[in-house]
Amino acid sequence: MTTILVTGASGQLGSEIRERSVRFSGYNFVFTDVNELDITDARAAASYITELSPSWIINCAAYTAVDRAEDEEDRATLINGSAVGNIVSALEGSDCRLIHISTDYVFDGNSPVPYSENDTPSPASAYGRSKLAGEKAAMCRPQTMIIRTSWLYSSYGSNFVKTILGKAGSSQTLSVVFDQVGSPTYAADLASALLEIISGIIQNRLNFIPGIFNYSNEGVCSWYDIANEIVMTAGSECKVIPVRSSAWPSKVKRPAYSVLDKARIKENYSLTIPHWRTSLNNCISKINRT
Ligand code: NDP
Repeated sequence: MTTILVTGASGQLGSEIRERSVRFSGYNFVFTDVNELDITDARAAASYITELSPSWIINCAAYTAVDRAEDEEDRATLINGSAVGNIVSALEGSDCRLIHISTDYVFDGNSPVPYSENDTPSPASAYGRSKLAGEKAAMCRPQTMIIRTSWLYSSYGSNFVKTILGKAGSSQTLSVVFDQVGSPTYAADLASALLEIISGIIQNRLNFIPGIFNYSNEGVCSWYDIANEIVMTAGSECKVIPVRSSAWPSKVKRPAYSVLDKARIKENYSLTIPHWRTSLNNCISKINRT
């Protein structure tokens, strides 16, 4: 039976993969987080991975505290960069395929058009630099797909959607930035896409294509647009006020524009990706049900 190892499985994306994995019978999914498999521990990672001998690894483990990374770049680089090298080293000599998750933050956000996989990364933040180091480590292995995604949210974990939803009920106004433009990604959609791609490849319906792929929901918006949609969906009277990023002083230079061009993944894997509004509403409905 094909073994699929998911690291960082208690996070947003890992939890969505776990939830959806029950629909993919016939595969042996193994979900680990830092307590079972700390990817920064090279020796432990090597012994765990060698013993398990997975056919696929989806690496969702990451340091995702973007603001804190400015003060903890070494730690961010250890988890997002060097630890990816540990996974790659542990796989030496095996046929295992690695799917590594990366981010729009590898770009500085100065592009006037959506970023393609071939654009040269130029991260403007410690988090972005650490994730780029991870991409480089992952690419040392030829059997690697890197999926760059952006503005991930889920009914699991903490994120912008849940924060705004929580505040919409109790605040009269909310100030939200309108000058950062991108595409949100419902982690449930990305999880489904990953599992469809993997099962399609295992069943020889799809080809394994190494390299970088972009994935986000369809459409383009600002954080202000997302907040407005959440408040409207919640039926709240709260007024969302558009403000510039400079209204929220931060050490992090966030990309002003980080739209990812998804043509490569859509064409090669015949994916139909939902629009961000549809997926946002699906996520909010799920949060309200739980
Ligand atoms: P989360 O932060 O929700 O999950 C990451 C998981 O990795 C957490 O459970 C975390 O544990 C765990 N982890 C941390 N350190 C280690 C370690 N040393 N060994 C094993 N596990 C560890 O991330 P997301 O699900 O949101 O993100 C998934 C991927 O998508 C990541 O690669 C991220 O960089 C990328 N991404 C995320 C975006 C976002 O907006 N969140 C946007 C674009 C890309 P703990 O919580 O205890 O630290």
